[in-house]
Amino acid sequence: MNILFATAEAVPFCKTGGLGDVCGSLPVALVPHGIRPTLVIPGFRQAHKSGQPIEPTGIEFEIPIAGRSVVGLLSKSYLPDSDVPVYLVEQPDYFDRPELYREDGADYNDNCERFVFFNRAVLEVIERVAPDTQIVHAHDWTSGLLPVYLKTLAGRNVDYAQIASLFTIHNLAYQGTFWHWDMELTGLDWKYFNWQQMEFYGQLNFMKSALVFADALSTVSPTYAKEIQHEEHGCGLEGVLQDRSDDLFGVLNGCDYSVWTPETDPHIARPYSSDDFVAGKAECKRALQQELGLPAIPDLPMISIVGRLADQKGFDLIAPLIPQFAERGAVQWAILGTGDPKYHKLLADLAERYPDQLGVRLEFSNPLAHRLEAGGDLFLMPSRYEPCGLNQMYSLRYGTVPIVRATGGLADTITDATDHSLSVGTANGFSFVDYTTDALAGSIERALSLYRSPDAWRRLIRTGMNQDWSWRTSADQYTQVYGETLNRIGMVV
Ligand code: ADP
Repeated sequence: MNILFATAEAVPFCKTGGLGDVCGSLPVALVPHGIRPTLVIPGFRQAHKSGQPIEPTGIEFEIPIAGRSVVGLLSKSYLPDSDVPVYLVEQPDYFDRPELYREDGADYNDNCERFVFFNRAVLEVIERVAPDTQIVHAHDWTSGLLPVYLKTLAGRNVDYAQIASLFTIHNLAYQGTFWHWDMELTGLDWKYFNWQQMEFYGQLNFMKSALVFADALSTVSPTYAKEIQHEEHGCGLEGVLQDRSDDLFGVLNGCDYSVWTPETDPHIARPYSSDDFVAGKAECKRALQQELGLPAIPDLPMISIVGRLADQKGFDLIAPLIPQFAERGAVQWAILGTGDPKYHKLLADLAERYPDQLGVRLEFSNPLAHRLEAGGDLFLMPSRYEPCGLNQMYSLRYGTVPIVRATGGLADTITDATDHSLSVGTANGFSFVDYTTDALAGSIERALSLYRSPDAWRRLIRTGMNQDWSWRTSADQYTQVYGETLNRIGMVV
């Protein structure tokens, strides 16, 4: 099966979150299933600085956008240690910028134009180098117009009616909505700008367009697939998703253990495994305390947090707890993140107030993310919603016990430590349901109490470390979803 991934992010080229991890590792995991993936990504500055070998192809194309003709070039690379080709759409005015989508808390104001160009450039890739594509697998709003183009444009060298589309929702909250006149940029007929297709309350909406036009839909965990069909998590699109519930699949993301495993992690102070994690984690914790300028107290529990500083991630619940725990000297915190300026200020202020309890780094640093995973005792993810979440799976592998809110993929991966789950050996973390500071504090207290029973604590850690959250199972399920996708255009695998 020939699958073309159209995505704005793919590690190791460019990443702002889980989308990059998934699109960089899923394609390689699909190869043993007889799938031939090809990736198309924008030629972002970050990709060119990634150190990956990127070669020009000499292929040039022009795309009409709002009466102008915009020139693009294709360059080529491969996913590391694989034969999976990655085509980069080069258009320096659009993509050679410091960030991918936004700077200083504001979206780039030509995001619609940039990603219309990217979506149309993917069609050029299909026509010029991948005419045997059977499924376009598009991801999130930045690729959301592809299902529309495939259904509405006539191909020059390929018959688009023979190409099915699968659209994966990584985060429904980011929809790509723009004022209605941007419809002109798409080159699509205004007849599609209606409330049943591309319009959402008077605006052009890339995400909704994809949900309507794609042959099949998926999202990144079974629980999130259910949640988004209801008002609380549906972001206004729950009706569209209910209409398409027979075509909507939930497949949990996998973890790339070639990168996220403490046995071989080059970023951490000392490698360790589930057989010798006590000494290894102690050494990693000491190194982390030193790196963050915290007192090296071996027995004080360390809570790590890595992630986008966004309302979604539950920082409004965490903020009041930091002073409470700090006053008691009960824990240390290691926090790494970038995002909303209000959280930058809040965390910077708290770090200044509690220098011995709180180590904060307001930056994007992959090596430091690995060290927080290895050096923490606990990993906090009290998300308001979480489509899948990868950090809790990384934490399990690093023996850093996750405390999560039971939502989306967090609910699908973390089994709360109760008397029963501990006794039967299924517990791998702590979870709570109500989105309140009290509920989160209650889970932290339960965790701290178990932490003081070393045997039970080590058993909990070992259970998590020995679990398999790799792409193996998920790649199998994606292969089935691709089959379902082809069925929907009358093709048989
Ligand atoms: P989301 O996609 O919603 O941001 P996920 O948990 O699915 O959340 O994935 C986040 C990914 O981004 C993880 O690989 C995490 O380690 C990484 N990440 C997030 N913020 C940072 C940061 N400031 N520095 C390094 N890595 C980060």
